[in-house]
Amino acid sequence: MAGPIAKAGHVAPRTRRRQGSSPLFRTALLLALVLTSALAVIAGRSALIFKGAQGSAPVATQIAMSGLQPGACMSFAPTAGRSGKTVFLDPGHGGLDPGVVGATAGVQVLEKDLTLAVATRLTVMLRADGYRVVMSRIADSSVAKLSASDSISGALTASAVHRDLVTRAACANAAGASVLLSIHFDAFDDSSVGGTETFYDPARTFASQSKRLATALQGALVTALGSSDRGVWADDQLAAPALTPSGSTYGHLIELGPTAAGWVDNPSRMPGALVEPLFLTNPDEAKLAAAVSGQARIAGALRTGLEQYFTGT
Ligand SMILES: [Zn+2]
Repeated sequence: MAGPIAKAGHVAPRTRRRQGSSPLFRTALLLALVLTSALAVIAGRSALIFKGAQGSAPVATQIAMSGLQPGACMSFAPTAGRSGKTVFLDPGHGGLDPGVVGATAGVQVLEKDLTLAVATRLTVMLRADGYRVVMSRIADSSVAKLSASDSISGALTASAVHRDLVTRAACANAAGASVLLSIHFDAFDDSSVGGTETFYDPARTFASQSKRLATALQGALVTALGSSDRGVWADDQLAAPALTPSGSTYGHLIELGPTAAGWVDNPSRMPGALVEPLFLTNPDEAKLAAAVSGQARIAGALRTGLEQYFTGT
């Protein structure tokens, strides 16, 4: 194989969106989607994790660090047992960054909504397994606190996307996480392309652990989804266009990669992987990813992969 085709997490959202509608229409649509999905999150999915097991006790607390959006970098204590380990879960994209825009049966699906749905389910599972979980975001928002100058015509600027990714890595560090898992979905111009890909960074002192984590997650996903196994890839093999010349020179995923002065000053300090379980540009895979049953299968597989990683099996 020549290399992965994933549109990975450091690619500017504008470059990955399919064209076809006017900017004004897209902005209006995006605003409507932001509102409806925010309401849906408040009313539905997030109730799962916000409901305190002991009545009024706070369920989540925000990690103390500067530059965070409300609801970003939230810590959840275990609900049963104590493993002593913290899992950092990063639902990719959010807020003005929809990630991949896919469609199934004429209905639009946004990567940012599906990554949050999967991460929310996985959080419930991991807490019950005795893990503390820190989620980079628990709502349809960015992780970094953004201002008006961070978006143009409803889309985040490249520098805002960069700052958001850097803030996610900083959150994982501030959380003292044992492991970092970033959840994304994939896209490609040819809608017949599908399958599962997972990335890790080979340029870290803990690269062998990251690769073991990525391999466990990839295997569990392929087994659970019956998807095409597109393989585990080092993130420096990515051919996707980078945000800026600095990003292109960097050649790594910002959340997983090493220090680069002025670009990644506070790199993640724990083994990590970025999963792309399915392609949202493939109608059959988008349908599976958008279904509650499909999201439960993905979350269950990620739990299995993490368990294999932690137990060394
Ligand atoms: Zn993504």
